[in-house]
Amino acid sequence: MTKLLKSWISSANSPDTDFPLNNLPYGVFSVGNNDAHCGVAIGDMILDVTAAEETGVLTPADVPVLDVPFWNDFMDLGRDTWATFRSKLVNALRDGSSEQPKLEPFLVAQADVTMEMPFAVSEYTDFYAGMQHAKNMGDILRGSPDLPANWLHIPIGYNGRASTVVVSGTDIRRPLGQTKAPDSDAPVFGPSQRLDIELEMGAIVGTGSKMGQPITMDQAEGMIFGYVLLNDWSARDIQGWEYQPLGPFQGKAFGTSISPWIVTAAALEDFRTSTPPREKELLPYLIETKPGLFDISLEITLQPEEAATATTITKTNYNRTYYSAAQQLCHHAISGCEMNSGDLLGSGTISGPTRDEFGSLMELSWAGQKPFTLDTGETRSFIEDGDTLTLKGHAQGNGYRIGFGSCSGTILPAIDYET
Ligand code: MN
Repeated sequence: MTKLLKSWISSANSPDTDFPLNNLPYGVFSVGNNDAHCGVAIGDMILDVTAAEETGVLTPADVPVLDVPFWNDFMDLGRDTWATFRSKLVNALRDGSSEQPKLEPFLVAQADVTMEMPFAVSEYTDFYAGMQHAKNMGDILRGSPDLPANWLHIPIGYNGRASTVVVSGTDIRRPLGQTKAPDSDAPVFGPSQRLDIELEMGAIVGTGSKMGQPITMDQAEGMIFGYVLLNDWSARDIQGWEYQPLGPFQGKAFGTSISPWIVTAAALEDFRTSTPPREKELLPYLIETKPGLFDISLEITLQPEEAATATTITKTNYNRTYYSAAQQLCHHAISGCEMNSGDLLGSGTISGPTRDEFGSLMELSWAGQKPFTLDTGETRSFIEDGDTLTLKGHAQGNGYRIGFGSCSGTILPAIDYET
């Protein structure tokens, strides 16, 4: 396995940093009231690649593509350009590089910036590819852990909302909506009482496909630019009343948070791992041509308002997922659905086989029947106002890690809505 690549930026050589030279994730940042720029994380610094491109020091293409505060124009150029630019960055930032004096003026401390959305989300699709999660939800909602008849054949998904995908650090307002308790005759309107999270990975489509044109698994792999942590905030009570027969709607539409750094597929290459053994043979168009998952440790913490510490409530791994992002993308486009640069695919909630690996509060508290205790002594079944939920993730290399940073959001009280 690859070793730590040493950089002339010393903080990038720590075994604990999320952002060694092996990683080089892409984000967008702003300093004070200045325009947002594209940046590359390296140790505790950011290389301002918008400024570096403008001055001609580091150019990804013949035309400017980083003069906009999102990575879509760069993503659109495709894999060869992605690889060439990554090589240029590695070469310029490695220990002993002659480029050091030219690049030093473009470094900004991460502590001094505000992170922005790293790309413009074209459309957002969320999947349901965690087998343990699907079994748990069946058990909780329908009294049986049996998977739906289609589950082992199709990466099940629904079309979500791109409009409310936000970057880590953005507050989330508790949603209003219709709910109906199982034992009541009529629905009521008000703030969700069963607000939840879903621990997911988000895959970012870098290059698109044409309407009417199906794609292969190989093509799907080549279209994925990178990955982020994704929290699919979910109002379980709104969802429970609305979802039949067309699936989730308002219970999922009020907010989805992502981590600010796009970790490229190239940086994760050493951590590829196959999907779990198939319980039913897949139709040929969905069969993996290379291992499609990655060994990425994931965790969730919950910190109540005013609490001094956050409690880790779950630890699991992306390798628990049954379908890879490439399988989801291939399935998405197979009908002739056009996919575009900037499309975001949520993996589905990632839950492992035991309770300490469950990726939602619905599962951790078993729909409120088994509240759990935080380090502060408080208990939780669902999220309370003021709670901050944070996702973290990293792939562990030999003396280095490929980290994702964190994906955080704090819940604000519902709007006081007079009808
Ligand atoms: Mn989800």
